[in-house]
Amino acid sequence: MSLNPVRPWRNIYRRKSRQIMVGNVPVGGDAPISVQTMTNTDSSDVRATLDQVIRAADVGADIVRVSTPDEASTRALKEICRESPVPIVADIHFHYKRAIEAAEAGAACLRINPGNIGDEKRVAEVVRAAKDHGCSIRIGVNAGSLEKHLLEKYGEPCPEAMVESAMDHIRILEDHDFQEYKISVKASDVFLAAAAYQGIAEATDAPIHLGITEAGGLMAGTVKSAIGLGNLLWMGIGDTLRVSLSADPVEEVKVGFEILKSLGLRTRGVQIISCPSCARQGFDVIKTVEALEKRLEHIKTPMSLSIIGCVVNGPGEALMTDIGFTGGGAGSGMVYLAGKQDHKLSNDQMIDHIVELVEKKAAQIEAEQAAAE
Ligand code: SF4
Repeated sequence: MSLNPVRPWRNIYRRKSRQIMVGNVPVGGDAPISVQTMTNTDSSDVRATLDQVIRAADVGADIVRVSTPDEASTRALKEICRESPVPIVADIHFHYKRAIEAAEAGAACLRINPGNIGDEKRVAEVVRAAKDHGCSIRIGVNAGSLEKHLLEKYGEPCPEAMVESAMDHIRILEDHDFQEYKISVKASDVFLAAAAYQGIAEATDAPIHLGITEAGGLMAGTVKSAIGLGNLLWMGIGDTLRVSLSADPVEEVKVGFEILKSLGLRTRGVQIISCPSCARQGFDVIKTVEALEKRLEHIKTPMSLSIIGCVVNGPGEALMTDIGFTGGGAGSGMVYLAGKQDHKLSNDQMIDHIVELVEKKAAQIEAEQAAAE
């Protein structure tokens, strides 16, 4: 990410990590922070799972995880991996055979903790399968499933126990000469997760997968994730993330992107700056923004749009956005292009007209980028 020489207070200095590949998606180093989600379909149902993967990819998911608890699901994984537009991570807990089957089926990454696989021979087999099939591995430590000996040593799940667990798993992979791993130390408690992530960020240069696990429903989970992940990202920690919500995976991806967009770490699509509205509004701001969010979902090119109810803040916000609309009086408002007043627009035509302006601007940016390349 490039640093901002004019507004240094916006700079985030990312922790230096090594880079690994999850399929064709680089994770770590200077790669963009990738956004992940996980399907919640029956993984043996190829069609339903693929549909969900595709819907998640359409809203920007870079990587999608699929749980593979049984042979039927690793069998289905083959077609899912072949047809998926994004790399697939196979989620495995204890069964080393599922890990080998998932690697053979084309998974780009295995989420498995080597310390849980069993004896040395099994670990060696899983690592060999990962190497043979170009899979990376995510070590996923979770406060809720820490090893018994660590709970006895520390008394309860704590950051030190989580870091020690992660380092134990790392050691097993390193002993097998395997470096293509990333690591997560998730907890549903934001304090615990943030402290564990800070600890692991200091202890290793492995890429870090961020997550606040079991964060809750759409609203509560979004707030919790924004606080937990937002703080870590602001500190420069995190190379890939998943927002865990009891909601449609598509929502997880949208929230992940919004967190990254808020911190200027990634851009995608239209960032709408809008006011909360009040008695001064010259049009119905809330309904307009809701309609525009839906109508502009298909835009992938990053750009900004301000929708402000009146002149108190409208012209100022328009100065900093690509396209702006500020409510005025008598059923119309002002359109701003690149910060400058451009033309008057009646409220009843505004949604169609703004969608048109955004689509035009997106096409223009894309053409300029293509020409530059
Ligand atoms: S910009 Fe105007 S309409 Fe919007 S909240 Fe502020 S004062 Fe109210």
